[in-house]
Amino acid sequence: MKFTRIVITGGAGFLGSHLCDYFLAAGAEVVCLDNFSSGRKENLKSSAASGRLTVEVTDVADGCDVPGPVDAVLHLASPASPTDYLSMPLATMKAGSSGTFHALDLAHRKGARFVLASTSETYGNPQVHPQPETYWGNVNPVGPRSVYDESKRFSEALTMACHRSQGLDTAIVRIFNTFGPRMRKDDGRAIPTFITQALAGKPITVAGSGTQSRSLCYVHDLVAGVVRMLHSNLAGPVNLGNPEELTVLQIAELVRELTGSSSPIVFVDRPTDDPDVRCPDTTLANRRLDWAPRFSVIDGLKQTIAWFRENEQAPLEQPSG
Ligand code: NAD
Repeated sequence: MKFTRIVITGGAGFLGSHLCDYFLAAGAEVVCLDNFSSGRKENLKSSAASGRLTVEVTDVADGCDVPGPVDAVLHLASPASPTDYLSMPLATMKAGSSGTFHALDLAHRKGARFVLASTSETYGNPQVHPQPETYWGNVNPVGPRSVYDESKRFSEALTMACHRSQGLDTAIVRIFNTFGPRMRKDDGRAIPTFITQALAGKPITVAGSGTQSRSLCYVHDLVAGVVRMLHSNLAGPVNLGNPEELTVLQIAELVRELTGSSSPIVFVDRPTDDPDVRCPDTTLANRRLDWAPRFSVIDGLKQTIAWFRENEQAPLEQPSG
């Protein structure tokens, strides 16, 4: 293992906690910086058992200080679901701007490799399909979702500026829709919403006509991609996602079938600027990281549904901002 002490901002969240598990299992020490605005202590239960996890309750927009050596900084701290970033618009922009600046500065001071968790949302409502990294995107800069899309675009620009001007060892992964155990049932993303509704026998709410497409990557595949990116010498951006494209209606039907639910599927209003299509071109990750998703959507959904059946979740108390 090349990296022995890793800082993960947003480490108590869905993706961050799976990354904590991975690096601890690989023998590293992990420092998790999180303000718990959308993360949970329960997500870190298995990580805490290792004895090599340190958790600091910190808002990275205020600063990132970690004593001792650090050889990698993975920057994931940001509200990530539409429900979260629309209810915390200013905190989202601060996490992407000041938070990214402080995380980069930490990597700079420690001489660490830096990985930014960016997003397919940087492509906005794409006019090129599937989306390669060379596509510059189609984002509405003043719409409600811009707080997230533009803060991630700014994070990418800031990361490249530090790379170019300070010689910082940086990487950018553009993560496409990822799902799995530990997603919050009330975070508003399609998979936890559909599973929670199906298991409760409530109507499954599909936005619009459900013909818009999404591609779904299982969390273990995503973690493997981030790890490969960390160990590479690529600066990025590199798309990480599953190129298997499904309509939202197909996803709802699949969840209903796999849960054995008889919930009706109902159609509700589509959010403003909801992308029509979303599918990664993963040629670069295939070629340069030798990475491709291994879990089928069905296998990932089975694991996720089993986890939702076994795990009760209390609602999160969210700060506003
Ligand atoms: P999540 O909400 O579960 O995790 C985000 C974590 O960041 C939470 O633990 C939250 O408490 C923490 N956080 C937020 N603002 C913070 C701040 N200012 N200071 C410290 N901690 C803060 O979301 P996730 O799905 O695990 O997403 C993690 C990262 O991956 C995000 O940056 C997100 O934009 C990116 N991403 C995720 C997906 C996906 O499909 N899950 C897709 C694209 C990009």
